[in-house]
Amino acid sequence: MVRVMSPSISRRRFLGATALSSAAAFGLTTISLPGRASAVQSGDFSPAVVIGTGYGAAVTALRLGSAGIPTVMLEMGRLWDTPAADGKIFSGMLAPDRRSMWFKNRTEAPLASFLWLDLANRDIDPYAGVLDRVHFGDMSVYVGRGVGGGSLVNGAMAVVPKRSYFEEILPEVDADEMYGTYYPRANAGLGVNNIDPDWFETCQCYQFARVSRKHAQKAGLTTTFVPSVYDFDYMRREEAGEVPRSALASEVIYGNNYGKRSLDKSYLAAALGTGNVTIQTLHEVRDIERQPDGTYLLTVRQIDEEGSVVATKQLGTRHLFLGAGSLGSTELLVRARDTGKLPELNDEVGQGWGTNGNVMLGRANHIWDTTGSLESGMPALGIDAWDDPDYPVFAEIAPVPAGIETWASLYLAITRNPERGHFSYDAATDSARLNWDIAQGQPSIDAAKHLFDKINSANNTIYRYDLFGDTRAFENRFTYHPLGGLVLGKATDLYGRVKGYPGLYVTDGSLIPGSTGVNPFVTITALAERNIERVLAEDLT
Ligand SMILES: Cc1cc2nc3c(=O)[nH]c(=O)nc-3n(C[C@H](O)[C@H](O)[C@H](O)COP(=O)(O)OP(=O)(O)OC[C@H]3O[C@@H](n4cnc5c(N)ncnc54)[C@H](O)[C@@H]3O)c2cc1C
Repeated sequence: MVRVMSPSISRRRFLGATALSSAAAFGLTTISLPGRASAVQSGDFSPAVVIGTGYGAAVTALRLGSAGIPTVMLEMGRLWDTPAADGKIFSGMLAPDRRSMWFKNRTEAPLASFLWLDLANRDIDPYAGVLDRVHFGDMSVYVGRGVGGGSLVNGAMAVVPKRSYFEEILPEVDADEMYGTYYPRANAGLGVNNIDPDWFETCQCYQFARVSRKHAQKAGLTTTFVPSVYDFDYMRREEAGEVPRSALASEVIYGNNYGKRSLDKSYLAAALGTGNVTIQTLHEVRDIERQPDGTYLLTVRQIDEEGSVVATKQLGTRHLFLGAGSLGSTELLVRARDTGKLPELNDEVGQGWGTNGNVMLGRANHIWDTTGSLESGMPALGIDAWDDPDYPVFAEIAPVPAGIETWASLYLAITRNPERGHFSYDAATDSARLNWDIAQGQPSIDAAKHLFDKINSANNTIYRYDLFGDTRAFENRFTYHPLGGLVLGKATDLYGRVKGYPGLYVTDGSLIPGSTGVNPFVTITALAERNIERVLAEDLT
């Protein structure tokens, strides 16, 4: 069920969507409502600046703009609103091109191989593409790049964690408020909807999920539907042949051309529609320092879509919100502390990073037990074994959208892994390096193995050993869910205010201490809603 937003928000969203498409049409890197002045005032100063355009950033900009505060958003990626020569904004997963990845020579898909052959990846030209895979030794992290951040590339699963687990990970946050006010507000703002269970039972595109459900049930396990920001009614019409296909045309990690309510269609459109928010694209913030008058001065590198630096700028602000994601925001503050630009930042900056216990695995199905060749790119069902006292797991039933029968069932398991990594500043590369050892992923593998051994044993099936480039059955050398680095209540106060620096705030996944037990974006959104409400009331009056 889609929740209806208040009329003023939906009108703003309409106005903002118009601003986004006209900016795209003219190839602009500054996006604001036509006829409204840019939020950058004279002397390159803006009352508020938000870094990034992902979940936390988008919520923050909407609430600042609605309160009448001129706000600039700085996003290192591009605006994804213009069809290329093939008539599509994004390239699909079956024929990726330069649009798919952020300055790579070859795509780096999570399923590295099939029957040990590298069939999914292609050589591409380096370009400001939409998906990045950032490598740190034993761990690599997938992130979205562009106006909308991770919302452009993610699987759209909009899951609220079990309340008991939320209370465990963030015990100092009032769970009554979160579950009574901020999760519902986030779901409404994001446009979360649920699948029609009758259609699920009969459609072709979720046969793969029904097969996995049958196997889970045979092992005595339960499954649950997963809410989504992909429009399930659009998907139904895709299968009926009434509209162009997106989720049913193997589009996910390199962007969806239709059907998905990414942030540029929801929070960001509404933020622009306030008339007070300006987005500058292809602008990467490199440095933050504090001026003697207490304002912040940003050094910003502007690039073109081929990666050439076209300008280096400075922008001042009194209220600076970091929404560059767990990797981006943490790097900015680790760099600022360790180069002496913000020397009062505490030792918690860079700590408490986790993978949300991500581990991916595949099972081999019996030859007669087919999933069909049409698999929706958007998962709609999860195996909920979170109440297992020793090995809690929430495993989303993931598609293999290869367009052919693969006899494979794929899963992204979210496990409860207590291991945490940390970031340190590397002066040689002027970047923050993640310290994470491969052994720290073992608790995730143990938990996933406990669950899927049960499923294999009940169904007389085995793991797939051909999917991850070698012969491993469990892949935990990457995560889709980077969390932490600037943990709430440690690097910041309980509302995201950075300790020691008035007017400096964190508003994204880096606030969450490494785990949410489910897919994280609804929690990031809800927490940002909670924090900005308090900050607006107390700091910006
Ligand atoms: C392939 C994939 C699938 C996923 N599936 C799901 C799912 O189904 N459900 C779910 O809940 N979660 C999913 N996630 C995770 C989810 O997308 C992230 O948790 C979420 O996007 C994080 O939000 P954020 O606000 O922390 O920042 P992000 O969404 O990461 O946004 C940060 C933005 O800041 C920009 N930025 C970074 N550094 C700078 C800088 N220095 N200057 C300017 N801009 C900068 C980035 O380009 C990016 O646009 C998935 C992620 C991926 C990659």
